[in-house]
Amino acid sequence: MKKEKQDFARQTIFKLVIATIILTTLILTKHFFVQKQISNQMNISNIMNEAGRQRMLSQKITKDILYIKDDSISRAFYLSDLDKSLLEMKSIHQRLQIINQEEAFVQLSREAVDVKYSKVDEHFKDFYDAATQIAKDYESQKTLESSNMKPELLTAVKRCELLYVEHMDDLVNQYDRLAKRETEQFLRNNSNLFISIIVVIVMLSLFIYYPIFRNFKKLTMDIDESNDNLIKMLHLMRGYIFLVNKHGDIILSNKDAEDVIQSNKSRKKNIARDIHFLELNILENFENCSLENRLIDVETIIEDKNKELRTVLLSIVSGNYDHEKAFLVSLFDITERKNTELTLKRIAIKDELTGLYNRHFLDQIIDEEINRSERYEVPLSAFLLDLDYFKAVNDKYGHPTGDSVLKLTAEIIQNQMRMSDYSIRIGGEEFLVILPNTSLAGAFDAAEKVRKAIENTPHPVIGTFTASFGVGERIQGETYQNLYSRIDGALYQAKENGRNQSVEAKLVGGEYSGIYIRWNKNWNSNNETIDEQHRKLFYLVSRLIEESHKTFDKENTINQIDEIIKHIQEHFHDEEKILHKIGFSELSNHQKLHGQLLKRTAEIKNLVSIDRISSIKAFTIIFDEVIIGHLLNEDTKFFSFFHNET
Ligand code: GH3
Ligand code: MG
Ligand code: MG
Repeated sequence: MKKEKQDFARQTIFKLVIATIILTTLILTKHFFVQKQISNQMNISNIMNEAGRQRMLSQKITKDILYIKDDSISRAFYLSDLDKSLLEMKSIHQRLQIINQEEAFVQLSREAVDVKYSKVDEHFKDFYDAATQIAKDYESQKTLESSNMKPELLTAVKRCELLYVEHMDDLVNQYDRLAKRETEQFLRNNSNLFISIIVVIVMLSLFIYYPIFRNFKKLTMDIDESNDNLIKMLHLMRGYIFLVNKHGDIILSNKDAEDVIQSNKSRKKNIARDIHFLELNILENFENCSLENRLIDVETIIEDKNKELRTVLLSIVSGNYDHEKAFLVSLFDITERKNTELTLKRIAIKDELTGLYNRHFLDQIIDEEINRSERYEVPLSAFLLDLDYFKAVNDKYGHPTGDSVLKLTAEIIQNQMRMSDYSIRIGGEEFLVILPNTSLAGAFDAAEKVRKAIENTPHPVIGTFTASFGVGERIQGETYQNLYSRIDGALYQAKENGRNQSVEAKLVGGEYSGIYIRWNKNWNSNNETIDEQHRKLFYLVSRLIEESHKTFDKENTINQIDEIIKHIQEHFHDEEKILHKIGFSELSNHQKLHGQLLKRTAEIKNLVSIDRISSIKAFTIIFDEVIIGHLLNEDTKFFSFFHNET
């Protein structure tokens, strides 16, 4: 296509040059003819004038000769006039000779003119000689009378004059005829030339100008059609596409682009004003683009018409449109792709920074691990660690250094833990380690090992750093959330206690834990009555905790606490009786504690009635302090009596 256009342009130029040469030649020829004719006409009129003057001079000379008088004054006058006239006549005669020889026009008719001219020349000489002779005679005979003039001389002058004038007229006539012929010839040639020019112009128009015009028209129509097609295609193209000038005014835009142009007004739209770029100044990018001709795949965010954020790849190409600098801006929407990437990242199980497992992985394995622990009745423990004063590290050394501390921490954890343990980065600088098949004591040892390793591994930039730990073992039936909230509580305690230490989680924790834990056979004292009552209380309160998640009814809660109190009183009574029977030495102290627990329970009931605490909190405190707390801390003291019994 491009080659065709180049050929067309080359041929067009060639044809136009040829046409111009032909036309110019014709016009110049015509001009030359006209000039030549004018110069011929001027020559003729020149000759006519000179000839007329010769005629006049010859008559004047004859008259001077006739009128020379005797008196000395008039004679002197006529003599001098005669001399002058003779001189002038001679010089004109010579000039005519020159014109005759020189002029191209005369040369054309040389033969005829030359014949005539030699005649004129002959008679001129006769006349001139005769007149000169007379003048000389007068000069020599100063006193000569006019009547004394030689009559034959006078006759000769008159005859010569007649002959001269006659031939001169003949010569002039000859010129005149020639001029007429020339003029006729010129007029013929001129109209021929004129017709030729017209014919040439018609031919040029037919064979050169019109084809060029037709091709040119076709070419521009083709270009228009291609432009229309391009615009149509651009209109349907995917992505937001704009053609803008250097000020950002939108010249063209496609269909998709309507979704991101904010303004509905009919005024001229501008890419910088009517599209909300959240991160970049598009006009500044035009400048960068002008230097490099294009700018591609700059990721940025825009806001669409519905105020939704869209991630786009911005590309700009610079060029010209309508003789002005223009930019083709395309915004390729990658929002979906970004979202998918994010989802994929979320699905990925490894933490990008540290290479440890991530929270998503934890979600995948925790249920499985809990099930296994339940099924095989093996312990499951976990510890949570949080770096101490880490914010200060970031503030002092910058985020990248902070990140490298996190990486180092991850390495230490991984080096210290067993293959079967799961090391997980669950938050910024919080790590969780799940230890299957490990009891609280084992988990505590592991946490301490990690803690000491961290303390003893200085970071190259920040030096020594430490971490605090919360360690816990899952209680039978405990949910992961509850275990987490217990070890998180322990971690909090470790921080409170001064950091860089490990703290064991309380057995029951989390204000709103909502756990339903099962009776552990280790809590059996081996006394049937006591154990049955313990279990009854244990299940009663833990059921109430669970139920209070769902509904809250103050009256009901107070009734339920009364019920618990009744059970507790009954139990304390029975227990004290049994302990008395076996002679438990710390019975009086134990009785005092029972009294305090009853008081504490009544207090809790009161707090509920005055709306200070919720029912769930009330049951949790009773469970934690009165039931399990007392059982594990105090009752275990008399367990040995009954174990020994069996
Ligand atoms: P404390 O001893 O009480 O834990 O003090 P702290 O300064 O460590 O306090 P906290 O645990 O609340 O601070 C967490 C800080 O960890 C906040 C944040 O600046 C930083 N952080 C969280 N995630 C990252 C991360 O991915 N990289 C970096 N460099 N820092 C993070
Ligand atoms: Mg933290
Ligand atoms: Mg911290």
